[in-house]
Amino acid sequence: MDCIFCMIVDGKIPSSKVYEDESILAFKDINPQAPIHVVVIPKEHIASLDEINASNSDIAAKIFAAIPEIAKKAEITNGYRVISNCGPDACQSVKHLHFHILGGAQLSERMT
Ligand code: 5GP
Ligand code: ZN
Repeated sequence: MDCIFCMIVDGKIPSSKVYEDESILAFKDINPQAPIHVVVIPKEHIASLDEINASNSDIAAKIFAAIPEIAKKAEITNGYRVISNCGPDACQSVKHLHFHILGGAQLSERMT
């Protein structure tokens, strides 16, 4: 499997971990687009948000349940933005479901 995020989960590629539990990993983005930029992923390979359905949506709930703690651990104190790029029009570059947490500064009012 040549998935970069699966390799990060397996420890084959190093990452700056912010949070980890049995099903979720959060680490600093290698190319930050805000002063604090964390990527949250399920440990299991799911290609994108478009692959979420009733049988696997528990992982999405677990990720969202962990995001407030992840934001605190990343030392975000004044709000944050959560983004998941899904598919070509959204410029998804890594085909493993992930949520960006962006914070640490006043962000643009625009989301695009
Ligand atoms: P996407 O464009 O798919 O929404 O986001 C993928 C993100 O993964 C990008 O922000 C990119 O900087 C980040 N990324 C890609 N490869 C690596 C890596 O090897 N390590 C880390 N920490 N982040 C990565
Ligand atoms: Zn993967």
